[in-house]
Amino acid sequence: MAEASTQTIHDVACGFCGLGCDDLTVEVEGRTVRARGDVCPEAARLLKRLDVADRPASVAGAPASFDEAAEAAQRILSEARAPLIGGLGADMAGAGALVDLAVRFGGVLDHYASEGLFRNYAAVQRTGWLASTLAEVRNRCDLLLVVGDDPSATWGRLFERFFPADPLFAGTPRKVVFIGGAPGEKAKGQLARADVLHIATTDLVAVLEALTGFTAGRIPPGASFGGVAVEALVALADGLRNAHYAVVTWNAAALADGDLVAERATALVDALNVTTRAGVFPLGGRDNIIGANQLMLWRLGYPLRTAVRGQVSVHDGSLYATDAALADADVLVWVSAFRPEPPPEFAGRIIALAHPETVFEKEPDVLIPVGTPGVDHAGTVFRMDSIVSLPLGALRVATLPSVAEAVRRIAEG
Ligand code: SF4
Repeated sequence: MAEASTQTIHDVACGFCGLGCDDLTVEVEGRTVRARGDVCPEAARLLKRLDVADRPASVAGAPASFDEAAEAAQRILSEARAPLIGGLGADMAGAGALVDLAVRFGGVLDHYASEGLFRNYAAVQRTGWLASTLAEVRNRCDLLLVVGDDPSATWGRLFERFFPADPLFAGTPRKVVFIGGAPGEKAKGQLARADVLHIATTDLVAVLEALTGFTAGRIPPGASFGGVAVEALVALADGLRNAHYAVVTWNAAALADGDLVAERATALVDALNVTTRAGVFPLGGRDNIIGANQLMLWRLGYPLRTAVRGQVSVHDGSLYATDAALADADVLVWVSAFRPEPPPEFAGRIIALAHPETVFEKEPDVLIPVGTPGVDHAGTVFRMDSIVSLPLGALRVATLPSVAEAVRRIAEG
């Protein structure tokens, strides 16, 4: 048998973390896929595929055909009293099919990474915000505040994307201030041409409040805020006021008081916009959460964490969060096509449309392994700043169904 030749594919788009890099190089040899060159660890890990037989679908732990598994899933859903369609790690076609499934069988819809999104929503709903896009940060931002821990561990190429080494952007002087955690080696490397400062603090919210006060010309009493000396904060507030375009970024999902950080960061940006230009850049976007959320807004008029019953949709950010909704659910439809994310602990019945490498603590009642968008089949995902939808191509011939195909088959029964 002839050996498969290695094909090198350039400018591959990546749909995993929400940053939307579209310049990856990937080697494909038969069914083997691997990223080539200096790629971020997340993409290297999640793109990698070996030439192994597909995990079969199963019903009650016993191997089953795709059709048998789909029929079993439909039977479970037909009998379900309160399904939760969770995980929701799917491309736009998959997310659309899952909304259809909820309309047909009823159910709560939530994404497994929605906690950060809803912490940010708490701020947006109260005051609104002026959000920057990735292109605006890249083209215009001269002072970036990074609030919380260095986000490079989650978004491996974040600072490279913010401030590329491209000579086109070389003339723009950049200052980056880390408030909270210190920048790691990766961040420092990507920010080699920027002026980087670290301000350690015990209280991010207190620091943001004080900065807002100083920026607006108010002098709050005290010699330090969150353990940071007034002089340092006054100097930073001056820098923010004098910046042409300041941007504040944070990862609400990683901060216990992420809702307060989002609100105070928004207030700081509002204060700056009285005299100059500034914006927020909230981090998030893993596994197409932004796309799934957008799709629900278009289709149902509500974001994630919405229950669909009959022709009625009801949104409740607390009641319909996965953890809370599981307490009332009798069936969990767990969807994770981008990565082997296992379902949460759940005593009811589980239908899993899952990445084939998912390790389950308890064998699902129905398992349908699904292909990964951008590896096994083409698809579309949204970038974290909501304004760009990213087409993903297929890297190899699909042997597993997409989420959309699996859901359609379940609906057909
Ligand atoms: S930073 Fe994110 S989008 Fe870019 S290559 Fe890594 S996982 Fe993919």
